[in-house]
Amino acid sequence: MDASSSFDTIVIGAGIMGSCAAYYLSKLSQKALLLERFDLLHPLGSSHGHSRTTRTTYPESFYPPLVSLARSLFLDAQSEAGYTVLTPTPHLDMGPVSDLSFKSCIDNSSSTEHVLLGKESLKDKFSGAFDMPEDDGWVALETPLGGVLHPTKSVAMFQSLAARHGVVVRDRTEVISIKKEAASGPVKVLTASGEVFYAKKVIITAGAWTRKLIGSVGGIELPIEPVHNLICYWKIREGLEEELAAAGGFPTFASYGDPYIYGTPCMEYPNLIKIAMHGGIPCDPDRRDWQVGSRAAASANEPDANALVGPVAQWVSKFMPSHVDASNGPVMTQGCMYSMTPDGDFIIDFLGGEFGKDVLVAGGFSGHGFKMGPAVGKILAELAVRGEAEVPDGVDMGMFSIVRFQSNPGGNVKEHAAQVSLHKT
Ligand SMILES: Cc1cc2nc3c(=O)[nH]c(=O)nc-3n(C[C@H](O)[C@H](O)[C@H](O)COP(=O)(O)OP(=O)(O)OC[C@H]3O[C@@H](n4cnc5c(N)ncnc54)[C@H](O)[C@@H]3O)c2cc1C
Repeated sequence: MDASSSFDTIVIGAGIMGSCAAYYLSKLSQKALLLERFDLLHPLGSSHGHSRTTRTTYPESFYPPLVSLARSLFLDAQSEAGYTVLTPTPHLDMGPVSDLSFKSCIDNSSSTEHVLLGKESLKDKFSGAFDMPEDDGWVALETPLGGVLHPTKSVAMFQSLAARHGVVVRDRTEVISIKKEAASGPVKVLTASGEVFYAKKVIITAGAWTRKLIGSVGGIELPIEPVHNLICYWKIREGLEEELAAAGGFPTFASYGDPYIYGTPCMEYPNLIKIAMHGGIPCDPDRRDWQVGSRAAASANEPDANALVGPVAQWVSKFMPSHVDASNGPVMTQGCMYSMTPDGDFIIDFLGGEFGKDVLVAGGFSGHGFKMGPAVGKILAELAVRGEAEVPDGVDMGMFSIVRFQSNPGGNVKEHAAQVSLHKT
């Protein structure tokens, strides 16, 4: 084992989680290696594209403290890098108060700055852009700490900061095996091209490939389901572009219900706004059908053919008819993947089994992890180096444990329904 193949910690997977973990390992003076199977910043996983929402509103009380920590870490990293990845905006949640998830969000926001808006005050506030229903007790919750994160630029920022601090970053290097040859020895990592690396600790952040990788090397089955989904961009009606722009104070937003719809202000493409549904269609990450969910049904036997676009078009026509034109469908779509756990909560834990506390896994970010990337990366680095992590008040790491699925296959028990809609074809 020579010095060039031997590390304190190896991180497998260079999406937002792995790239942040590598950066915080470097801040702890670790000799670290970050391995990625595809090109750096590729569009095949979950961390690519131009926008991710950040918000402090959550039905679960343990996420907002992680979002706040991550926000301050994004700002610190921006200062170190010398450019920005976060565009702050207000955030708006809309829904019927009878929806338990939305009600829980309102309850969790009660001790922080927030405003509740009815139909008319919502229209006045955002230039008439939102036409919220009046019946069924719909209200809107406006909070100050929303914003748009640029995902590809954020990942690149953490990778380049990590490299600047000495992390070795290697792409086109697929890990095919992780082994412990002796209980007290290092972890051996084998790549598809036959290279071998050794480390005291390994962190697996393989996104939608996590279950496959861990199943093949450790025989441990984690309940993480890869789900194909789509981001849709819609045409803003002529002359109204500035009213939906982040620069003019337009918020990131979400609409509770089935499906849960979310959107970001007009930023990345002139005259287009991103509005999509929080849901998707289970997939094999290595054999994806890039069009599923966005094509016209060829027959009545294909009820889900347009499952990821049709419900969004309906929502746009109902909630933003004066500002956004959904009549011809989205102008542009982009595929992405969620890694769903049964309860929608993350997995951040030691793998156990023969690996004990030498291998950590962070996966199952269930379509809402990006905003917490730096907080997760910092926690992973501390867990790898010290065996324990400093977590913000209000965060119980037990909510992210693997063992929660042993006592209940559904994971954490919640009063409210799942927010992500899964279409099983
Ligand atoms: C359409 C969409 C919208 C979203 N919107 C939001 C949002 O608004 N706000 C929010 O907070 N979150 C959002 N998310 C979720 C967020 O983007 C993800 O939770 C996050 O990007 C997951 O990052 P990751 O690092 O776990 O996975 P990934 O980014 O997929 O990274 C995993 C990496 O591991 C690599 N890898 C896999 N196997 C191997 C191997 N064997 N060897 C080496 N490398 C390997 C992969 O190639 C990949 O690069 C959204 C996700 C999607 C898809």
